[in-house]
Amino acid sequence: MELKFDVAIIGAGPSGAAAAIHAAKAGHQVALIDSAQFPRDKTCGDGLTPRAMHQLGNLEILVNPSYRNKGLKLHGFGGSVTAPWPQSYPCTEGTALPRTDFDALIVEHARTAGAQFIHGTANAPHVVDGQLRSFHVGADTVTARWVIVADGVRSTFGKQLGRIWHKGEVYGIAARSYATSPKAAEPWMHSHVELKNAAGEVQPGYGWIFPLGSELGMVNIGLGALSTATRPAKINTKKLLDYYAEQQREEWGLGPVEKVASALLPMGGAVSGVAGKNWMLIGDAAACVNPLNGEGIDYGLETAAMAVSLLAEPDFTRAWPQTLQSAYGEAFLLARTAARLLTYPQFLPLAGPVALRGPVGRMLMPAAARLMGNLVTDEDRDLVARAWRLAGRGISLTRRDSPLWS
Ligand SMILES: Cc1cc2nc3c(=O)[nH]c(=O)nc-3n(C[C@H](O)[C@H](O)[C@H](O)COP(=O)(O)OP(=O)(O)OC[C@H]3O[C@@H](n4cnc5c(N)ncnc54)[C@H](O)[C@@H]3O)c2cc1C
Repeated sequence: MELKFDVAIIGAGPSGAAAAIHAAKAGHQVALIDSAQFPRDKTCGDGLTPRAMHQLGNLEILVNPSYRNKGLKLHGFGGSVTAPWPQSYPCTEGTALPRTDFDALIVEHARTAGAQFIHGTANAPHVVDGQLRSFHVGADTVTARWVIVADGVRSTFGKQLGRIWHKGEVYGIAARSYATSPKAAEPWMHSHVELKNAAGEVQPGYGWIFPLGSELGMVNIGLGALSTATRPAKINTKKLLDYYAEQQREEWGLGPVEKVASALLPMGGAVSGVAGKNWMLIGDAAACVNPLNGEGIDYGLETAAMAVSLLAEPDFTRAWPQTLQSAYGEAFLLARTAARLLTYPQFLPLAGPVALRGPVGRMLMPAAARLMGNLVTDEDRDLVARAWRLAGRGISLTRRDSPLWS
């Protein structure tokens, strides 16, 4: 069969499903295609920052209404810092919900908005002069005026269109699990930046405990480490996760860890080949993930909105990378450079104690936590936010060679 749409969206994770809602609300005929049936699991920390909540508010999607968190608590190197979500941002609360439920919820909203869900794997794109004419889903041929590719980290369809992931840049390896906890209603997300293995060596990453609310009675507990092709993190994430959970068990009253799963994460825009004449890659497929903390749902939701608002453009080949550059380019380059520092084993033990203890820590860390939560806005006037932007400009001048959606 030949199926015809105005907009075909490949991948129904948060990025694709959000794009489907925006496109359907704009009056387009939309296909939302996924190789999985929903609900389906996705390896994730399940944390939603106010930035993600703001986008969800725009989509009129209410998530886990009985649980809200107020910000981030960072621990390690003998110190602890509390960083409330900034009050200057339009949304001041975060939450968390297992991806099995969260993703199914957005897909349901996409269907309600009028998108047609198609179950199947998209492949075999037929491209003529940069124009994606058609592709296959099982025995069907799909044609669409515009195609939005939101097929996640591996981006199997994106690869067929020429997407390249630059593994010389920093990328993440991460694992998550679930455990019951009497503290599931705790209104703060917690991160432990002094992540040690059983031999007592500090690892290049951080652990997290994200409460999921009293209704679920669970927390998401996981960890992420940073790697580059030349300095791969030599860690067994699942083993380290067991050890981390053991260390936190008493304080959090944790039950046994369940559903342990791990994944790789391209970050900070370190991919190229993200657009052609009538197609664009969004979300994880375009490596729109914060290199400092691995968060990408907020970027996925934002790039969905940005992509749909670009549909009127005659050619996305240059327009889409330029849109991504101006939205995230400088911040991503700086964050990637900062994240790269963390891949040097000697960096954290030296910098950690300064950052988390004493007067410098008290001044810097709340702002650093906001950076980790992707919440630096133009109104954010504090010291580190300004330094971030200044250094961002410096880095974009000096690191022109660095691949960024080029
Ligand atoms: C361990 C870990 C912890 C994380 N924690 C957080 C966190 O706490 N907060 C946060 O914001 N982010 C977090 N992230 C990142 C977050 O998971 C991603 O940024 C987010 O899932 C991106 O959404 P997406 O829609 O772009 O891709 P995905 O959610 O991966 O969705 C892609 C979809 O495409 C489908 N698909 C793929 N190929 C095809 C094909 N050819 N045809 C049809 N369908 C296809 C897949 O089935 C899938 O449903 C974490 C990541 C990891 C690995």
